[in-house]
Amino acid sequence: MSAIDSLPPLREVIATHGLSAKKALGQNFLLDLNLTAKIARRAGDLTGCDVLEVGPGPGGLTRGLLVEGARRVVAVEKDARCLPALAEIAALYPGRLEVLNADALDLDWAAHLTPPIKIVANLPYNVGTELLVRWLTPPTWPPKWQSLTLMFQREVADRIVATPGSKAYGRLAILAQWRCDARVVMTLPPEAFTPAPKVHSAVVQFTALPAPRYPADPAVLERVVAKAFNQRRKMLRAALKGLTPDIEDRLVAAGISPTDRAEQISIEGFCALAREVAG
Ligand code: SAM
Repeated sequence: MSAIDSLPPLREVIATHGLSAKKALGQNFLLDLNLTAKIARRAGDLTGCDVLEVGPGPGGLTRGLLVEGARRVVAVEKDARCLPALAEIAALYPGRLEVLNADALDLDWAAHLTPPIKIVANLPYNVGTELLVRWLTPPTWPPKWQSLTLMFQREVADRIVATPGSKAYGRLAILAQWRCDARVVMTLPPEAFTPAPKVHSAVVQFTALPAPRYPADPAVLERVVAKAFNQRRKMLRAALKGLTPDIEDRLVAAGISPTDRAEQISIEGFCALAREVAG
């Protein structure tokens, strides 16, 4: 019997500590410990890794990460009501669980962990995309993390792994796939959560590539992609007007037809265009 088995079931934890779900904090809890262990396993071998978890809540996924052998878990939780429940877990794993009562958006997370670092979280929906974009756009690459294993609304997960030509393809797909392998590794129905959200969810696994797939200046690429998808139904020569005076020539030089639309252009194409614009 592992140490985790001596903790009470999560429904009991929630009742004991009065953790009624708050919508404003995106609280949809996972109470099935088999499921949380499964998510933790999707992050790969955790032994020898520090893990950052955002939003541990009552600690279901936290338990999974510890059982799966994470060297240390740093769990950042905004809701102070969850702290006593998390302290019970920490007591069973001396020195392996540090709980920070903080807003993940304000935290210098890397200061609290030692590489190799993995990030695993059932993210609060209201800040999930914002956190992802920050993790995907550090000042230097490779990033301080090795992999991200993150729960999103299914619709967001679809946008992350979308390929050119699809409606879901856009800035998020390019940001994610330019410097990572990103794939959906699990899908979950609303009933998996308490309370059940209105939408389905999915876990996306991101593995950081040692270097970007194609060369480009990140700031220029971000500017080109944002502008191109801002008016995604327009032809690129119109959508990108004003980016440089000779945008049609730059498009052609990058091997892109000026009459194409943003969603038809591969990541390689956008990188070629970013290099033309920068040059
Ligand atoms: N990990 C738990 C689970 O799987 O059952 C809870 C996940 S719940 C979807 C999201 C959690 O993130 C909640 O516990 C919520 O209080 C916390 N949270 C919301 N906004 C946060 C923020 N800005 N920083 C840190 N935690 C936050």
